[in-house]
Amino acid sequence: MPELPEVELTRRRLERDLAGRRIERVEVRTPKLRLPIPGELAIALPGRTIRSVERRGKYLLFDCEGGWLIIHLGMTGFLHFLPEPALPGKHDHLDIVFMGGPVLRFHDPRKFGTVLWTMADPLSHPLLARIGPEPLIAGFDGDYLFRMSRSRRVAVKLLIMNSEIVAGVGNIYANEALFRAGIRPDRPSSSLTLPECGRLAAAIREVLQESINQGSTFRVAEESAAYHPLDFAVYGRGRGSCSLCNGALEEIRLGNRSTVFCPRCQV
Ligand SMILES: [Zn+2]
Repeated sequence: MPELPEVELTRRRLERDLAGRRIERVEVRTPKLRLPIPGELAIALPGRTIRSVERRGKYLLFDCEGGWLIIHLGMTGFLHFLPEPALPGKHDHLDIVFMGGPVLRFHDPRKFGTVLWTMADPLSHPLLARIGPEPLIAGFDGDYLFRMSRSRRVAVKLLIMNSEIVAGVGNIYANEALFRAGIRPDRPSSSLTLPECGRLAAAIREVLQESINQGSTFRVAEESAAYHPLDFAVYGRGRGSCSLCNGALEEIRLGNRSTVFCPRCQV
C-alpha cells in the first residue's frame, strides 16, 4: 500500500510530467471505485490546465485553474503518465488525456482508490478537513504528541496511525518509528512521557524523510504498477531478529494489523 513517502514521490513525479499541460478530455471506464467517480469530471476538466500537484496526507491535489482534482491511491492505486496514447489494460479505470496525446492513467486492481472533484478549497472537503498536521512540517513535534495522547488509552501505534492525530502515517512507518524511538507499540498512549513523545515525533519524521530521500522504501516499478517493499528494521520481519540486540522480534495484532517489535529494545 502506498504510504506518505510513496504519495510524495508520486506527487513530485506527476508535477514534473503534468504542470502546464492542458486537458483535452476525460475517459471514465469504471464508474465507481471506493466512491463513484464524479460524472462532472468529463465536463469540468476539458480546457483546464494543471498548474501544480500538491499533497495533503495521502491525498494528491491537482490544481486545475480554480477547480481541484483530488485522488487517493487507496490500497493498490497507481498513476501512470503515458507520453503517448496506449490501449488501456485491465484495472485502468480512468484516463485524463492532454492536448497532443499524453495520458494520466489511474490503475487500481482492488478499487479502493478515490477520485473527487471540487471547486471549493480542497482542504475543506469533508474527507480532508479533519486530517491532522503534516508530520514533515513544523507544528508536529513531541509537545503536540504529548498533548494529544493525555486523555487517550488507545495503543500508541494506533494513535500515530490515526490520520486525525497526524497525517499519512500508515502501518509500515508506525512500526519502524516505534522501533527507532524504543517504544512498545501496545503501550497506552497516555503512559508516554514528554521525552518519549519527543523521540517518537522525531522518529516519525526521520523514517518518512529518509524514505523520501532514498526515493522511497518502495521501489516504484512503473512498468508493473506496483510498489515493492525493500528492507525494514521490523516491518514484515515477525520471524526475524532485532538489528540492535540480536534477540527475537515479536509479532502481535493491533487494530487487526501486523505489529512487529523488539521486546527488549522497545519498552
Ligand atoms: Zn532488540
